[in-house]
Amino acid sequence: MVLNKKQGRPKVVIIGGGFGGLYAAKRLAGKPVDVTLVDRKNHHTFQPLLYQVATAVLSPGEIASPLRRILHRAPNVEVILGEAVGFDLQARRVRLNDDAELEYDYLIVAAGARHAYFGHDEWEKDAPGLKTIEDSVEIRRRILLAFELAEREAYLKGTHTALTFAVIGGGPTGVELAGAIADIARRAMARDFKAIDTTKARVILLEGLPRILGMYPEELSLKAQKQLEELGVEVLTNSMVTAVEPGRIKVADEWIETSVILWATGVAASPLGKILGAEVDKAGRVLIEPDLSIQAHAEVFVIGDMASLKDVDGKQVPGLGAAAMQQGRVAAMNILSDMRGEKRVLFRYKDKGSMATIGRHKAVAMFGGWQLSGTLAWLLWAFVHIFLLIGFRNRLMVMREWAWAYFTRERSARLITGDPDAQAMKSHQVEVAAAPVRKKEKV
Ligand SMILES: Cc1cc2nc3c(=O)[nH]c(=O)nc-3n(C[C@H](O)[C@H](O)[C@H](O)COP(=O)(O)OP(=O)(O)OC[C@H]3O[C@@H](n4cnc5c(N)ncnc54)[C@H](O)[C@@H]3O)c2cc1C
Repeated sequence: MVLNKKQGRPKVVIIGGGFGGLYAAKRLAGKPVDVTLVDRKNHHTFQPLLYQVATAVLSPGEIASPLRRILHRAPNVEVILGEAVGFDLQARRVRLNDDAELEYDYLIVAAGARHAYFGHDEWEKDAPGLKTIEDSVEIRRRILLAFELAEREAYLKGTHTALTFAVIGGGPTGVELAGAIADIARRAMARDFKAIDTTKARVILLEGLPRILGMYPEELSLKAQKQLEELGVEVLTNSMVTAVEPGRIKVADEWIETSVILWATGVAASPLGKILGAEVDKAGRVLIEPDLSIQAHAEVFVIGDMASLKDVDGKQVPGLGAAAMQQGRVAAMNILSDMRGEKRVLFRYKDKGSMATIGRHKAVAMFGGWQLSGTLAWLLWAFVHIFLLIGFRNRLMVMREWAWAYFTRERSARLITGDPDAQAMKSHQVEVAAAPVRKKEKV
């Protein structure tokens, strides 16, 4: 079954309504093309604030918006819920998981990436990564449940298994998660739990390289580490995790018992890159041409996190929201240029800087030659994220929640959802506590 029979105007199919796909669709809105945007979710997720859902500051609806709503004013853009699973590049068709097909004159593939577990996909169930709304709600459930179970154990037995949160990966996401967990343990939770002292919870950030935030200048990395340590986070650099099991991780030859393990490292591009048959790098990213198309198929563009490109200035384009948005706009412009018979634009990444927040009044930021840390970087981070959030309603709600959290030090989204069977996790925790001490076990 073909869902969008070709007739009249050029048909553009966009796979993925993340930063890349959405900005391509917005650029094509109102133009003389018929656009079909396909996503397996009905919403666009503002990924930079996922960690705030995972740590109970914000609710999912505050950082995600229905794609159909975002694009409701674009009469030439249809949004379809579906998962792309295959392509016929000769016939110019996309196959969806229910075997429906979409015809196109131009195709933009922007299906993003997930975390890579370096050949250990089995670690994912014990050490989930943060990429989708579902991931953030699951991580929130694990963090909040760990506090609840410790409280129950302390209430019933007078003592409890030590609370240890391990975050693997010292990039921006790992830094933000570790800082936010330390912050809730020492502030929001501390007042509400009666049998346990949540301020004693251990938060460990593990990084395999010699420093965290390796993409930042060394001075900023060190400032970020200092700010994390002020919050009580133990930053372990040169610490490669070599095994993950329920309730414990192995770092070099030492096992560390954990209540919650979170994964924040590695990139695995969407498998759609390989399915396209294009050349890919080790992370599965498609090696694209400077006009963002793939070799031998000028009508197919691959953009965002699933693409790898050195831009016209020879700079490797980073896997960031800003780069995906810019590529979305350029892919759309190149389609319109083709229609006008004009030359295509070659992609040039405009570096608008990057920043990572660590906690209240704590952040690092870098813009061109400028480096900032502390309160100023934190204020800038908050301003930029409010500004970039999709939708006026979301901006208002996030500002309200942040103001509430700032003045009351309270977290309003502390709901444990999902599997209500706390017992399952409890029995696992007891098992961990009862296990023989395995520290310093030889590999
Ligand atoms: C926790 C976190 C924090 C981040 N913080 C920042 C930050 O502070 N600043 C910054 O610039 N960047 C940040 N990033 C990176 C940024 O979010 C990504 O670079 C950006 O989202 C990439 O955009 P994209 O369009 O390529 O992919 P995505 O935004 O990931 O979108 C991909 C879309 O494709 C859909 N999809 C996937 N497969 C299929 C399929 N087969 N069929 C149909 N639909 C499909 C998905 O549902 C999704 O909607 C962060 C990322 C994460 C995970």
